[in-house]
Amino acid sequence: MDYPGNLFVVAAPSGAGKSSLVKALLELDSHVQPSVSHTTRPPRGQEKHGREYFFVSEPEFDQMVLADAFVEWAHVHGRRYGTSKKAIEDRIAHGADVILEIDWQGALQIKRIFTNAVMIFILPPSWDELRSRLERRGEDAPEVIETRLRNAAAEMSQCKEFDFVIINELFERALFDLKAIVHSQRLKYVSQKRLRADTFKALGI
Ligand code: GDP
Ligand code: ADP
Ligand code: 5GP
Repeated sequence: MDYPGNLFVVAAPSGAGKSSLVKALLELDSHVQPSVSHTTRPPRGQEKHGREYFFVSEPEFDQMVLADAFVEWAHVHGRRYGTSKKAIEDRIAHGADVILEIDWQGALQIKRIFTNAVMIFILPPSWDELRSRLERRGEDAPEVIETRLRNAAAEMSQCKEFDFVIINELFERALFDLKAIVHSQRLKYVSQKRLRADTFKALGI
């Protein structure tokens, strides 16, 4: 599928820092818009319906699957998560850059549909650090943390399918890397031609 905006897909094992990095990017760059997913998991402390996720029941999720409302959806850590068509299609068609924070299964589904999607995988610097970030975040029950750590090895082995890998050791360094990837896409010929149409015209090219 062809479209004027860039589609960035970010995947990582739970606790690698994906949400923190994406949130920091969104604060710095108003041209990037988040895709808000639907999930059947319950909200964490500060999470708000429609901001981090649309929190829905299992039957509501079923209904959306039947109505073909999702571009992709997947089972992750025993819950279901999905990107609705509504969350992305209008925006990229109008030239916005959209960023998706989804699991690797969903990421690969997106790549098959949107072949130009920019695929980014975030790794933690070590197993010890991954565990301590999940514990420090303090938002998940101990058994949920164990499930997420058990799933992390298989998830991380998927990073070879991605275009870019960011190792989130120092947060500011990782954010710089993420910004560099986003920026580089905007310097591609097709983007420059669209974003700087006046300059191209004035130069007669
Ligand atoms: P966290 O990202 O680890 O803090 O925990 P979440 O409960 O927010 O997400 C759990 C997993 O589901 C992560 O791997 C997310 O990337 C993934 N996820 C979130 N939204 C979607 C989605 O719309 N589709 C798919 N396939 N995965 C998603
Ligand atoms: P994810 O969305 O990948 O599950 P989060 O963004 O929620 O991960 O990050 C997990 C925890 O690690 C959070 O408490 C976050 O503040 C912290 N964190 C993120 N990046 C770093 C980093 N580079 N150094 C230390 N802590 C970090
Ligand atoms: P909180 O969710 O309370 O904002 O952060 C939880 C933990 O994540 C903090 O103890 C902190 O060590 C780590 N953290 C959060 N944001 C950053 C950041 O921007 N850089 C680094 N290096 N660590 C962070």
